[in-house]
Amino acid sequence: MSSRNVAVIGGGIAGISAAIALADMGSLVYIIERDTQTGGHAAGFACKATEKCNKCSACVADELILKVFQYPEIRILTGSEVMSFSGKPDNFRLQISRAAKEESLFEEVELKVGAMVVATGFMPFDAEAKKEYGYKKYKNVITALDLERSLRLTGKIAKPTDGSTPKKIAFFQCVGSRDESIGKGYCSKVCCPYALRLSKLIKSETPESDITIFYMDVQPAGKGFYELRKSCEGLGIRFVRNLPSKVYGYVNSDFLQVKSINADTGEVILDEFDLIVLSVGLSPQNDAKFLADTLGIDQDGHGFYRAKGELLNCSSNPGIFLAGACQGPKSIEESMAHGKAAAAEVGKMLRK
Ligand SMILES: Cc1cc2nc3c(=O)[nH]c(=O)nc-3n(C[C@H](O)[C@H](O)[C@H](O)COP(=O)(O)OP(=O)(O)OC[C@H]3O[C@@H](n4cnc5c(N)ncnc54)[C@H](O)[C@@H]3O)c2cc1C
Ligand code: SF4
Ligand code: SF4
Repeated sequence: MSSRNVAVIGGGIAGISAAIALADMGSLVYIIERDTQTGGHAAGFACKATEKCNKCSACVADELILKVFQYPEIRILTGSEVMSFSGKPDNFRLQISRAAKEESLFEEVELKVGAMVVATGFMPFDAEAKKEYGYKKYKNVITALDLERSLRLTGKIAKPTDGSTPKKIAFFQCVGSRDESIGKGYCSKVCCPYALRLSKLIKSETPESDITIFYMDVQPAGKGFYELRKSCEGLGIRFVRNLPSKVYGYVNSDFLQVKSINADTGEVILDEFDLIVLSVGLSPQNDAKFLADTLGIDQDGHGFYRAKGELLNCSSNPGIFLAGACQGPKSIEESMAHGKAAAAEVGKMLRK
C-alpha cells in the first residue's frame, strides 16, 4: 500500500527545510535526529552583523529551527538512528533505535513511509589531524567552530588561556580542504565567507585588533562576496597569500609563532600572534558509510552521498533523496534550498 508519510534522516537546517515543505504538501513527516535537539551545526552560530547585517543566515536558521515545532504533521524523534530498512518506494519500512525516556535504554520503533530524505550533514574537519598547527596542544589555537560557539554564548572574543582580548589574530584558510595530501582535494566553499564575516565582526568590535588572513586564494562564494572582501580590506584586515607551514608554541603558554614562506620571494617569515583561528572545512560524517550501506545509496570519492539529476537531490536508490551538506559542502541558504528541492522531488514521486 502506498504511503504519503516521509522520513527525514537528520534534523539540521536542510532536513527541517525539507520537512516543512513536505508538511505543507500534506505529508506526515518523521524527523529522525540522533542528537538531543534539532538544528545541526547552524544552531550554534553567532550573528555577524556589524554596522549592518553581513548576511550569514544564522538568524534565518534560528527562525526555521523554531518554526518546525509549529507543525503537528512533523514528528521529531530525537535520540534516534536508522538501524535497518526494507521495502521499495511508496512502501519502505524503517527500524529505528530510539533513546527511551529512562536513561541509557533504547527502544526499537518501526516506521512505514513512502519515501526518505537523507539530510545528515557534515563533520567539521578534525583540526587535530593537522598536527603542525597544534590544535588541542596550544590553547590559543582554536577552530572557527569554537569561535562561533563562544561568540554566540558570550558575545565576545577571548584568549582561552586567560580570557583577555587578543590583539593579534590570524585566520588560517583551507584547513582540511584543498589538500590532496590528506585526501581532501575539494573546496569546502563556506570557510572563506565565514572567516571574512568573523574577522569583520572582530575588527568592527575591537578596531585596535590586528587581523591577518592566510589563504591560498580566496574563493568567491555567493553574491556579495567581493563587497565583503573589500569591506574587510577597508577595515585594515591583512590578506596574505600563503598558507603557514607550522605553528610554534609552548604548552600552557601564550606564545604562538607562525612560520610561512613568501610565495614571491621564497623568504621565510616568522610572525607572532595571540590567537589563531583554523578555518576548518566540511568533511562527510564519520559514519556516512554505515548509513550508505544500510540504505543502499552510493558515496562519491570524498565520502559525500552521490547525487543524480540536475538539482542533485536523487540518490542512487529510488525513493531515497538527498538534502544539504551530506551531498557536498553548502551554505545555510544553499542547504535550505536543497532541502526544499528534495521535498519537491518527493512530492513528484508520491503523486505518481
Ligand atoms: C565553522 C563553520 C562556520 C559556518 N558558518 C556559516 C555561516 O556563517 N553561514 C552559512 O551559511 N553557513 C555556515 N557554515 C555552513 C553550515 O554549517 C552548513 O551550511 C549547514 O550546517 C548545513 O546544514 P545541514 O542540515 O546539511 O547539516 P548539519 O548542520 O550538519 O545537520 C545535520 C544533522 O543531521 C544529524 N545527523 C547526522 N547523522 C545522522 C544519522 N545517522 N541519523 C540521524 N541524524 C543524523 C546531525 O546530528 C545534525 O543535526 C559554517 C560551517 C562551519 C564548519
Ligand atoms: S543574517 Fe547573520 S549578520 Fe545578518 S542579522 Fe542575521 S545573524 Fe546577524
Ligand atoms: S572556501 Fe576558502 S578556505 Fe574554504 S576550502 Fe575553499 S578556498 Fe579554502
